Amino acid sequence: MTETLFTKIINRELPADIIYEDDHCIAIKDIAPKAPTHVLVIPKKPIPRLVDAAEEDQALLGHLMVAAGKIAAEAGVGDAFRLIINNGADVGQTVFHLHLHILGGKEFSEAQLGF
Ligand code: 5GP
Repeated sequence: MTETLFTKIINRELPADIIYEDDHCIAIKDIAPKAPTHVLVIPKKPIPRLVDAAEEDQALLGHLMVAAGKIAAEAGVGDAFRLIINNGADVGQTVFHLHLHILGGKEFSEAQLGF
């Protein structure tokens, strides 16, 4: 199977600004930030989209959420951040390896659900 872009980053085959790593995920700074703080939390398991996650991935998905809270705090946005998962090309998913966007450091309007 061809490695995803993010698997190459996880395996250090491509460079990235890695700010967190544990046994199950890494967090990197987004290369094209849409907010002052824009971090991607990426499972080491290359699940293409959220809807491709299976029952066996429940603990991993929970781990990503808990990790995201800690990573956001460490990235300096405290408890004010937005967490986004793009599922599918039609809503803007471009890298088909599941990832959570942590966005913070700016105000988001209530109506603005995207970046
Ligand atoms: P998506 O649109 O799939 O939800 O998000 C993919 C994100 O990955 C985008 O915000 C994009 O800027 C980011 N990205 C794409 N290629 C790279 C890369 O090579 N390095 C890093 N750090 N981020 C990337």
